[in-house]
Amino acid sequence: MSIQTSDGSSKEYAKSLSLIAAHSHISGLGLDESLQPKPTSQGMVGQLQARRAAGVILKMVQSGLIAGRAVLIAGPPSTGKTALAMGLSQSLGKDVPFTAIAGSEIFSLELSKTEALTQAFRKSIGVKIKEETELIEGEVVEIQIDKSITGGHKQGKLTIKTTDMETIYELGSKMIDGLTKEKVLAGDVISIDKASGKITKLGRSFARSRDYDAMGADTRFVQCPEGELQKRKSVVHTVSLHEIDVINSRTQGFLALFTGDTGEIRSEVRDQINTKVAEWKEEGKADIVPGVLFIDEVHMLDIECFSFINRALEDEFAPIVVMATNRGISKTRGTNYKSPHGLPLDLLDRSIIITTQNYNEQEIKTILSIRAQEEEVEIAPDALDLFTKIGMETSLRYSSNLISVAQQIALKRNNNTVEVTDVKRAYLLFLDSSRSVKFLQQNESQYIDDQGKVEINSAA
Ligand code: ATP
Repeated sequence: MSIQTSDGSSKEYAKSLSLIAAHSHISGLGLDESLQPKPTSQGMVGQLQARRAAGVILKMVQSGLIAGRAVLIAGPPSTGKTALAMGLSQSLGKDVPFTAIAGSEIFSLELSKTEALTQAFRKSIGVKIKEETELIEGEVVEIQIDKSITGGHKQGKLTIKTTDMETIYELGSKMIDGLTKEKVLAGDVISIDKASGKITKLGRSFARSRDYDAMGADTRFVQCPEGELQKRKSVVHTVSLHEIDVINSRTQGFLALFTGDTGEIRSEVRDQINTKVAEWKEEGKADIVPGVLFIDEVHMLDIECFSFINRALEDEFAPIVVMATNRGISKTRGTNYKSPHGLPLDLLDRSIIITTQNYNEQEIKTILSIRAQEEEVEIAPDALDLFTKIGMETSLRYSSNLISVAQQIALKRNNNTVEVTDVKRAYLLFLDSSRSVKFLQQNESQYIDDQGKVEINSAA
């Protein structure tokens, strides 16, 4: 999203680096025209209820009328919460801002937490600025100077093409030497210097004989075809509120947009911009496009951030905030109390909640097969069955990560297809989290503990 990502652009970004990102197989929410989820579509598999709910959010955002709402996607790890948000971003298209951040990104040394959140909020609000330009019938679109030599004499042609006609002036041999062109408008008078051939635009008001006389005999004049002011063409630029902030922040300047090093932006600058944008809106010069701010791992935020979000959602310019978490009842950071998903109750109360469920065997198999296609890995059918079994017993993410590892093992055997033996090797070489925990429990004494001490194994 953008997905400005911190990325939606993740897809574009990954493609440009020829990397295969975790969600690069997802190109939308996979819904039909009536926003009903197709079982497998646009890279999305199953999770029908959550996708149906995301379709409603999609409609809300597209209507552009509802803003300042909070949506929480809650569910066990690897159940497609981020995938759902990425699908939403892709379905929204380029004109609706989508910003994705991880909860932990808020904690940086350069920006305060609230500044980082404010910037993320303002990146998610688009301002569509309409600019009207006049299109003149007969506007000159092209001037061609065709030089040719016939019978030892240089001959030339000056062609003025306009939107409604083409006018050709025959030129004498002297005039064509060094003739240059310059864009002129219909109704303008242009002069062609006979010696240099230089075309000069003199403007409409020049069409009076004494002006011609004043130019001297060496100048030839051409009146471009007169046209009438006909229609207005409107050009629309969409920028985010954050981009307007940065450009108008005197200490930063627009170059900061490229470096991303925007620093703190003063609140007076933002107030002025809000007033200006509200004026433009009032005058019909601009439309506000509330987009989506996606905060993954939202439980990483602390109570100050949550209180900020609560307030920011009531702001005049607020996006729809979609949050995701895999936490159950857990402590809200910065407090001593526990709450559902680690979110304070007041924020939870104003959120609509979408839940994701664990996948069944067939869904895991389909997702793994889509991932293999995305990573251009050929997998034998029984090897895919084994990947699926591993996915069911460990996690979808672990099994998905094994695909590229198993491919490397297969390539080492000069085999382009991943077979069961490659999957087994990969499984033995790399532990999943539960085998890692078991290993740790068996070998705990050799590790450094919380106090930085290595327990001396009494048997040693
Ligand atoms: P966590 O709670 O650990 O952050 P998550 O719920 O956000 O997990 P994802 O990262 O979205 O899970 O999913 C893990 C992987 O599986 C990703 O590569 C994702 O694209 C893929 N995936 C998950 N669900 C689906 C789905 N329904 N269709 C297609 N791919 C999916």
